[in-house]
Amino acid sequence: MNIDTIRSHFPILKKLIHKHPLVYLDNAATTQKPQCVLDALEDYYCEINANIHRGVYYLSEKSTQAFEKARCIVQRFINAQHPQECIFVKSTTEAINLVARSFGDQFIKENDEILISAMEHHSNIVPWQMICQNKGAHLKIIPMNTKGELSIDTLSQYFSKKTKLLAITHVSNVLGTLNPLRDIIKEAHAHNIPVLVDGAQSAPHLKVDVQDLDCDFFTFSGHKIYGPTGIGILYGKAHWLKAMPPYQGGGEMILQVTFEKTTYKEIPFKFEAGTPAIAEAIALSSALEYLNALGWDYITTHERDLLDYAIDALSLVPGLKIIGTPQERIGVISFTMDGIHPHDIGTIVDQFGVAIRTGHHCAMPIMDFFSIPATARVSFGIYNTHEEIDCLIKALQEAKLLFKL
Ligand code: PLP
Repeated sequence: MNIDTIRSHFPILKKLIHKHPLVYLDNAATTQKPQCVLDALEDYYCEINANIHRGVYYLSEKSTQAFEKARCIVQRFINAQHPQECIFVKSTTEAINLVARSFGDQFIKENDEILISAMEHHSNIVPWQMICQNKGAHLKIIPMNTKGELSIDTLSQYFSKKTKLLAITHVSNVLGTLNPLRDIIKEAHAHNIPVLVDGAQSAPHLKVDVQDLDCDFFTFSGHKIYGPTGIGILYGKAHWLKAMPPYQGGGEMILQVTFEKTTYKEIPFKFEAGTPAIAEAIALSSALEYLNALGWDYITTHERDLLDYAIDALSLVPGLKIIGTPQERIGVISFTMDGIHPHDIGTIVDQFGVAIRTGHHCAMPIMDFFSIPATARVSFGIYNTHEEIDCLIKALQEAKLLFKL
């Protein structure tokens, strides 16, 4: 499909910002939404809005069918074995907290260890710290090198009999590193250690196959994959999810309640207490179908091309330093510029309609590792173009002029 046609699917891309065409390069934070996703939200509320799994009337049945169909679309999208292995949650953050609490309650004891990597988002650090604190367990860290790659060759030295789980990002939201997960998971499984994958930055950019990865848990957020906010996915292998206690209690997750005792439904409902984000789940499935229709060959080739073009262009800006140079990378470039704080870079390029992220990107340990307070970060999506990267470079040059650099 032609890039102009793809861009025409995203109404917000027609906007002018400070009289300049919007150049949206903050896709790692959240993506823009195609018309089919906006239509799915409106159609739901105009045509079939009713609470699910409860009513026997027409609208409730239609709404339930659409919600459960959305689950099947998610299942196929990540190639899970069963739809029940796909749980609707609010976000990646909620998915990881669910596993930390539920798996943690059941399987983590005093002096056990949980392993994460040095390049995790706070969402894949803090929930584990909390469960470690509750249980008297310990958080261990797989280190990385200055390229922003994990030390895979020495991985097994971080596994021990006490390691109960490895929780690791598929793609770093700061460095863009694509971790070699199949090898990592194989090694972890050889030590009988289950693996949770934070897929927030991978699912929008590459074809995810949870069976091929053989991960035990996989998480991603709807809003980063061209879907709505307030919806995300936790995939878990059925045998783990069945063995884990519910994360929250309430309506819809129970079989029977008396004041003495409550029994729970099977998965996935055991983990979906209360009314879920129904419209958002359905609209998320529209986003996934939209990506399927574009095709992963297009998506990966286009985004690889943008990344190469941007790295070449940024490398030519004097005083600009790209943070992290991993061999295998996807969709994200962080950088600093001599003499300009990243926040100033972000504010100045915004005057030219260019939206980039600045700060620590919810990954303070990565900032500490590189001894920097913050970076500027550009991140790409299916609708970005070379011309937009040219606009970024021009805006960066304006920033340098303003700072007399
Ligand atoms: N993990 C990674 C790698 C991320 O980049 C993000 C968000 O930027 C998250 C987790 C958290 O995602 P959410 O805020 O949608 O829960």
